[in-house]
Amino acid sequence: MRHDNLKCIIVSHTHWDREWYLTSEEFRLWFLESFNKILEVLEENPKFHCFLLDGQVVLLEDFLEYYPEKRSQIEELVKRGKLAIGPWYIQPDEFLVSGEALIRNLLKGIKLAKSYGKCMMVGYLPDTFGHTAQLPQILSQFNLDSIVFKRGVGDEGEELGSEFIWEAPDGSRIIAVHLVAGYHNISKLGLPTLAPSIEIWRSPAGWITALHKTYDDEEKVLDLESALEYVKELIEYLSRYARTPYLLLMNGSDHTPIQTSIVTIIDYLREKLPEIEFEHGSLEDYIELIKEYRENFKTYKGELRGARYSHLLVGVYSSRVYLKQLNYKAQLMLEKYAEPLASIAKILKLNPDLKVLDYAWKLLLKNHFHDSIYGSGTDPVHRENEVRFEKVIGIASNYAFRLSKEIAGLTTPPLEDAEAYVFVFNPLNWERGGVVSTYIELPSGEYHAVDEEGRIYPVKICEDPNIEIGNLKQMFLICKEVPSIGYRVLAIKKGKAEIEGLKAEGNTIENEFYRIEANPERGGILRIMDKERGVVLEDVNIFIDGGDAGDEYNYSPPSGDLLVSSDKYKAEVKSFLDTCRAILDIKLDFVLPARLTGKWRSIESVSNPLEIQVWLEPGSRLIKFKVLFENNSEDHRLRVKIPTGKSTDTAYADTHFYVIERPHQPASTGEEWMEEPPRTHPMISWIDVSDENGGVALFSRGLHEYETTVENGQVSILLTLLRAVGWLSRSDLKTRKGGAGPDIAVPDAQCKRSLVFEYALYLHDGDWKEGEVYKRAQEYTVPLLATSFKHSIGKLPSKLSFFSAKPSELLVSALKPAEEGGGIVMRFYNITGKTIRGIIEYAFKPEKVFRSKMDEEKIEEIDLSNGKTEIEVGAHKIVTLIAEYDEQS
Ligand SMILES: [Zn+2]
Repeated sequence: MRHDNLKCIIVSHTHWDREWYLTSEEFRLWFLESFNKILEVLEENPKFHCFLLDGQVVLLEDFLEYYPEKRSQIEELVKRGKLAIGPWYIQPDEFLVSGEALIRNLLKGIKLAKSYGKCMMVGYLPDTFGHTAQLPQILSQFNLDSIVFKRGVGDEGEELGSEFIWEAPDGSRIIAVHLVAGYHNISKLGLPTLAPSIEIWRSPAGWITALHKTYDDEEKVLDLESALEYVKELIEYLSRYARTPYLLLMNGSDHTPIQTSIVTIIDYLREKLPEIEFEHGSLEDYIELIKEYRENFKTYKGELRGARYSHLLVGVYSSRVYLKQLNYKAQLMLEKYAEPLASIAKILKLNPDLKVLDYAWKLLLKNHFHDSIYGSGTDPVHRENEVRFEKVIGIASNYAFRLSKEIAGLTTPPLEDAEAYVFVFNPLNWERGGVVSTYIELPSGEYHAVDEEGRIYPVKICEDPNIEIGNLKQMFLICKEVPSIGYRVLAIKKGKAEIEGLKAEGNTIENEFYRIEANPERGGILRIMDKERGVVLEDVNIFIDGGDAGDEYNYSPPSGDLLVSSDKYKAEVKSFLDTCRAILDIKLDFVLPARLTGKWRSIESVSNPLEIQVWLEPGSRLIKFKVLFENNSEDHRLRVKIPTGKSTDTAYADTHFYVIERPHQPASTGEEWMEEPPRTHPMISWIDVSDENGGVALFSRGLHEYETTVENGQVSILLTLLRAVGWLSRSDLKTRKGGAGPDIAVPDAQCKRSLVFEYALYLHDGDWKEGEVYKRAQEYTVPLLATSFKHSIGKLPSKLSFFSAKPSELLVSALKPAEEGGGIVMRFYNITGKTIRGIIEYAFKPEKVFRSKMDEEKIEEIDLSNGKTEIEVGAHKIVTLIAEYDEQS
């Protein structure tokens, strides 16, 4: 619809991919030049009203490392509203990072932006590849009542228009602005002859680098007539979708320099189109204007993962899979051990150094930048990502080791004269057990563990073939009843205790719940018998390998695809009992086409050694898998198939603070789409297919891409293990129109390395709620932590729950020291669609407890008179509490 009294807000900006087809250091050199120019224009040209610095504050940190003396000049421009910064620390991907990571990104971004004087309060996510359903709630909890974005809209966009209300599952509502013509809809306006703007060079060191051109000559080549014609056409197009008389024109694109001539163009447009108002303004100005039309906007609920107007680029969930696996470990170490242990250490007055957490988070967030975690850059970029991830994992591991030792040193041992003690920590908010492992200093021999009531637990000690230091051994212990967000200490004594309930015979393993048989004639595929429930699953764990003619952004099937399936190979199967497991070890040589030749899989084939370890643990309903794969093939996609025996239309998967239901078949045919409607989907850690007779759930550690297919009425889950491709982007994909970046060869994206994939299966009664799939998934992805020690001083009991949050439909997502002040932040969310009365209990009673938003601003004090916190938690709500402790006592 074309409105009268049209007004165009022109926003000058640049979208700064911090690393992508160049490394962060090379792009930073461009940025120094670009940003110095931006500062100069903002200082000297009063007609140039403001510049949007891409919604990510990290760029200022990058700049100030070179030019610390310019900080006050930047602050001045920020305070005057000439330079808009924040609210993000970095422009993230959403689906590949945890919910906490999204929160920390905003927490750090807004705090940092405010330290310069002012934060832009618009949820600006120009380039992120689709948006998660709970984002409106997350943004709202940071007082961000709008989002401006480009990607993720499907056919619903024709109805919704470019401005709509986006509602989260909890009912939080924000204004959504869909940039139907992109965040670059008037990039290089009037400067058509300035292309190409990038020059590529190979240095004497063989390094391929690039320079971009600034628009120094822009006033000379400025073509006002072409600018006018372009804007007229754009206004026509945008007006088709606009639900207000205000149009957003975005002057900037990926790494573009500031276009100073925009002010000349604005004068010209005003003269030639007097019926339309043109204003050089900010995103905040635009959002303020459209708010008055809010009541007319249509409402959309759910995630945004369509690709009608822009590429969605769904293949990034599985490119360079090793990055995603490292991210899982880094997030795990920081969120589930380092932060909770630091919080407990703080309550115990152990003075943990909290600067470590801030440093580690910032380092991790740099890898959550969209092109970084996507794996959609060049090889040097992702080598740096690997090192960054390892730095975070190292910092958080070392920190968690120190804190767990210090806390263990305060406990009371269950026995006086033991050989050693083990401190077992559970960061989840329900009591649980499981196999734990750690190093321990002990002479060789048979051992068992004893608790404070004299009960005995099996222990296995073995050498670690990779370390020979003194009497250091690897210890495995079957632990039970580790309290909610708490610990227990066990004493290690000499003498054997038998592990009961495990069997390994021939090609079969067994525990109290399952009997699993591998078929060596058919690639070691499994027959799983759920003994308790009388359910049998056949043909489980088939590896299916197909060609991939795509790039780092998208899978694309080759013209003549050849699917190779592991059940056509013979396997070598062994079963045995090791440490605390009954294990099947299955080996086969997975011979696959070597590569694509043209669009066909090659006749030449190569050997890809595949070893599958499947095991059962005593007392556990999880079937665990570790797959070791030597990837010697190129241009292919490897997936593992799990038939569920279920007949359903949809599957459920976990996403941020929510469980999402997705159909097996895309709802749209995608005829007018930029990319095929997605068949593969992201999960954080689990996918479940269930009907009235129970379900099958698949859990993964850092493997995020799945597809559900229906054959003969029965649903199978396909988990992507690997997508090996050789190009950053290509323009000849069947699944996508056009390219998504420069066509550069990226040999490391073939992932020709030793890969290890970890996942688990869980068969259950009821649906994902009744079967408590979300709890079992967390138990799999968040193992118990164990630390051995020899001496302690007995200030704390031998078993303690520091916090408990009940019922367990409230999942604790964070336990962390507050950003400001001395409090401890506990965040949890209601995984169900009904209101829950939550009860939080404390081993150490706080002075005061406040309810806060995610920004950690206190909203209200909560009654603590009976020593616990009772709180109503609405459906799908995320709740943050801050507990304050007396610093003196
Ligand atoms: Zn980008």
